[in-house]
Amino acid sequence: MSTMQLLHQLQELDQKIEARVGALQEIASALGETDELISARAEVDNLRELLHDQEQRLREIEWSVDELNTHIAADERRLYSGAVHSPKELESIQRDLEARKRRRSELEDRELQLMGELEANQADLEQAQENLNRVRSEWEVHQRELADREQKVNEELTALRAERAALTAKIGSGDLSLYEELRRTKRGRAVSVIERSTCSGCRIALPMGVVQRVRAGRELVYCPSCGRLLYT
Ligand SMILES: [Zn+2]
Repeated sequence: MSTMQLLHQLQELDQKIEARVGALQEIASALGETDELISARAEVDNLRELLHDQEQRLREIEWSVDELNTHIAADERRLYSGAVHSPKELESIQRDLEARKRRRSELEDRELQLMGELEANQADLEQAQENLNRVRSEWEVHQRELADREQKVNEELTALRAERAALTAKIGSGDLSLYEELRRTKRGRAVSVIERSTCSGCRIALPMGVVQRVRAGRELVYCPSCGRLLYT
């Protein structure tokens, strides 16, 4: 096999390797939590926190109502016990009793309102939880696919690198370093294939003499325009 054939093969291998390295980078960036998953979970957490606050407030209202009930019962007992005779004192108890009943009524209204809010919130939470479950299971399937693909691409990469090592062993060190240097300076492509007398690297029409020298295969020929090695 000629040096140019070997270098051309090497370039094709390098392109396959590059494509897989790129695929691995893409996989790496897609692995991990997605914005969708993070926001679905945040939604559930926020609603849970809100629900917790509402339950706490509801309990506080219930305690206040209980406390008022105790006072109201005591007031009523005193009022109707017959033990208090002073009209002024009776009037004062009556006033306290009415104030407490008004307060209780306000709290009970608030309690009802809060219970309604809590119920709506519970329904929202249920929906958010369902959404999170769906997003998470889709995400898990996708992550498994990515992990499988990552493994497959890694295996391909190992095989391609072994193939590359075997190939470079057949290429002289001078030619190999020439190839590497061109690859570094010519945006990853050291070898240009001639297509209809045109350099595929820079799309310039090549003089017939250049094409003939490449076909003869006795020497390495460079594209006069882009400087890549020409292959046909
Ligand atoms: Zn060229």
